[in-house]
Amino acid sequence: MKVLSVNAGSSSLKFQMYEMPEEKVLISGVFERIGIDAPFYTIKINGEKIRKEVELPNHKVAFEILVKELMDYKVVESLDEIKGIGHRVVQGGDYFNKTVVIDDEVIAKIDELSTLAPLHNPAAITGIKAAQAVVPNAVQTAVFDTAFHQTMDEVNYMYAVPYSWYTDYKMRRYGAHGTSHKYVALRMNEILGRMNTKLITCHIGNGGSVSAVVDGKCVNTSMGLTPNAGLIMGSRCGDIDATIIPYIMKKANLTAEEVDTALNKQSGLLGISGVSSDSRDVEDGINSGNERCLLAQKMYVRRVIDYIAKYYVEMGGADAIVFTAGVGENSKATRREIMDGLSVLGVVVDEENNNTRGEEIMVTTKESKIPCYVIPTDEEVMIARDTYAFIK
Ligand code: ADP
Repeated sequence: MKVLSVNAGSSSLKFQMYEMPEEKVLISGVFERIGIDAPFYTIKINGEKIRKEVELPNHKVAFEILVKELMDYKVVESLDEIKGIGHRVVQGGDYFNKTVVIDDEVIAKIDELSTLAPLHNPAAITGIKAAQAVVPNAVQTAVFDTAFHQTMDEVNYMYAVPYSWYTDYKMRRYGAHGTSHKYVALRMNEILGRMNTKLITCHIGNGGSVSAVVDGKCVNTSMGLTPNAGLIMGSRCGDIDATIIPYIMKKANLTAEEVDTALNKQSGLLGISGVSSDSRDVEDGINSGNERCLLAQKMYVRRVIDYIAKYYVEMGGADAIVFTAGVGENSKATRREIMDGLSVLGVVVDEENNNTRGEEIMVTTKESKIPCYVIPTDEEVMIARDTYAFIK
């Protein structure tokens, strides 16, 4: 059975088509610069990558081209073969603790939650409507980044602010990257051969979050009301003193929007290093003696260690620590520094295994009191799995 996994951004549309339940990727690709200048798309099929430049005025046109390519490449012979389409949705608030089949009410709720994810939720709705228009007979599901974190206890999701902010404005921790944390936690439990585990999962990419997962359920996570909480990220500040915001608004005469932009787009690795939000550039800077790059890296690593330590104490131990996403899967230096910082917990790095990129591997020695693993994440397959479960 063919299931499509879709991730719509404001000007992009990523897709992956699976044969289920085998989880075989048949074709994947991404439409970029939708609705802006110089649009194009790339498709990967049979080990080949094809790039085409076309007009992409909106997501519906992108979807029409997508299904035409599916037919041209004979991935499907008719649209009716596409039984399900799963859509990634960033913010599900406290309405959604699992994947749901999309109807008008679901769309209305995703729309209502746009205030919490102003860039992402409207884009998801655009993608959903395009898919509904072009493939009306497929079961469409919404897979929420926040759903996995809905098992958190109020002690962990509440903020110590006036209680009415919670009751009136739903202000609380929702987390993000849930589909990724769930995927690597499931895989880690498979490797450990049991479900009753305490895991710390570190999704560190351009965005980053750490989760504490007990018996497969999330008990705490570092992102908050929005993704700009917890870790230092590529260009986001993560946790800061809340009073910085009114203070800098007055001092530098900035609007709330300007401060928000600075904290989301001009902070993190980029803000400290002054060089880049990309950890590869920061590593290059360190190698050429750039002190601010070194400071940025030290702060970044320190924050990850802080969260691991916090969740270790909170869970009363950890059976494994998992690294995933762009930095976690690829940066041996960052992983090493994090694990070195955990030596007090008995973590011992396996130099040879850590000297790898993008593969599933244990990166600690047998003597290590907590095994650490790299597990490449796969949010798309989780979306396909959840969608398939509804159709089957
Ligand atoms: P996103 O959060 O946008 O999904 P990714 O998980 O793809 O991001 O992570 C992208 C980040 O991964 C890049 O910005 C870069 O910092 C980091 N990265 C990718 N490859 C490497 C590498 N070989 N070494 C160090 N960092 C890397």
